[in-house]
Amino acid sequence: MVLRDLICDAAVAGLALPHSPYWYGVSVGGLLATGAHGSSLWGKGSAVHEYVVGMRIVTPAPVSQGFAVVREPGADHPDLDAAKVSLGVLGVVSQVTLQLQPIFKRSVTFLARDDSDLAAQVALWGDLHEFGDMTWLSRLGKVIYREDNRVDVSSPSDGLNGYLGFRSFPTLGLIIARVAEEHVEESNDMARCLAAGENLLRSSCPWDPRNRSLFFYNTGFNVELSKAPALVADMQRLRDLNPRALCSLDAKMGVLIRYVGASSAYLGKTEDSVNFDFTYYRSYTQGRPWLCASMASSRKYGAVPQWGKNRNFAFDGAIAKYAKSDEFLKVKERYDPDRVFSSEWSDHVLGIDGSPNIVQKGCAIEGLCICSHDSHCAPEQGYYCRPGKVYAEARVCSFRPTSRRDHNDEI
Ligand SMILES: Cc1cc2nc3c(=O)[nH]c(=O)nc-3n(C[C@H](O)[C@H](O)[C@H](O)COP(=O)(O)OP(=O)(O)OC[C@H]3O[C@@H](n4cnc5c(N)ncnc54)[C@H](O)[C@@H]3O)c2cc1C
Repeated sequence: MVLRDLICDAAVAGLALPHSPYWYGVSVGGLLATGAHGSSLWGKGSAVHEYVVGMRIVTPAPVSQGFAVVREPGADHPDLDAAKVSLGVLGVVSQVTLQLQPIFKRSVTFLARDDSDLAAQVALWGDLHEFGDMTWLSRLGKVIYREDNRVDVSSPSDGLNGYLGFRSFPTLGLIIARVAEEHVEESNDMARCLAAGENLLRSSCPWDPRNRSLFFYNTGFNVELSKAPALVADMQRLRDLNPRALCSLDAKMGVLIRYVGASSAYLGKTEDSVNFDFTYYRSYTQGRPWLCASMASSRKYGAVPQWGKNRNFAFDGAIAKYAKSDEFLKVKERYDPDRVFSSEWSDHVLGIDGSPNIVQKGCAIEGLCICSHDSHCAPEQGYYCRPGKVYAEARVCSFRPTSRRDHNDEI
């Protein structure tokens, strides 16, 4: 079932799922398996799995057991803490029971402020508004604070939220925008990225055979609420060292900062935490660096990767940060002893066998490893493996300019 259908069917019954990911095109099985969330620290927080009170999970079985085992852990069953966020390795989730709430509307106001007190605000904003979030436009030095609160369903409005990033646009326009973006990336001048798009759009030929549409990475990670101010301060220092470094993030609607409550789910957030969501340019050419500042600082603060939004290197060692991962693996062994729902990849991510890192030429550029050698970056294009500028223990692909026109950047 797709989230949109759940929301619509619930509304017909006068009910609402209080929190959800920001796009309703995902499936309920998929969003639960990856611990998807909206933004809130109030009540049970913003992770959808916190509203799960029962599940039905099907796994294959021998003919003597009727070919299938159907388990239905309820609200008080400890297996539910494994099943809520399962990465899909326990079996097929065929039914989910959610605790819904009486339907309501949300009143949303966006406030644009400078980012001088962002590090302090990140610790506070989640307590002030039930669905509050922030969008940090680092290059512009601005933060869009979202004041978002529950109001009575009778409040006047159409109740629609047409978030710009998830609207559909004419395909041709998207293809042209991509051409403009690639031009800016290749000219190595992200400082002009926001202004350049419009000019290039005017002069771009729609029939140009080079046209391809948008292509980007989306990475999310979480840090404990208490550590978020220091992380933000580090990212601001990185931005201040090289104001252009984070520019391409602004062009992709900024760094989205959201709140997620602590959970009893074995692979959920162990503490109230802050989620940082980055969307950034990805080249169609393998091994071609993209211009984006490092997210390496997050490791310093014990960040955990968002299960549904990351590259290989982020998952390396991540499972060790989940205190109850052993409990999860025990449930997995019981539910799926024949490992029908496991793969090489899930074994890597769960720390059962091997590492998700793939160490090879250019691997750090592709997010497949953390560099330990220049060849893991793209030395032929000026990117070398160097200590991080703010977090010196990190190793990042760092651009070494060959001319005055080029600028420093880190990946
Ligand atoms: C446009 C967009 C916006 C997003 N916004 C947010 C957001 O705001 N917040 C957020 O947290 N995440 C967000 N995400 C991430 C998203 O929630 C996850 O990637 C989610 O897993 C996608 O669901 P899917 O239906 O595509 O799952 P899939 O990619 O199909 O599956 C994901 C995992 O779930 C497992 N799975 C799927 N169905 C079942 C089932 N029935 N039983 C058992 N396992 C199953 C699969 O095996 C796989 O491991 C967004 C993603 C997109 C594309």
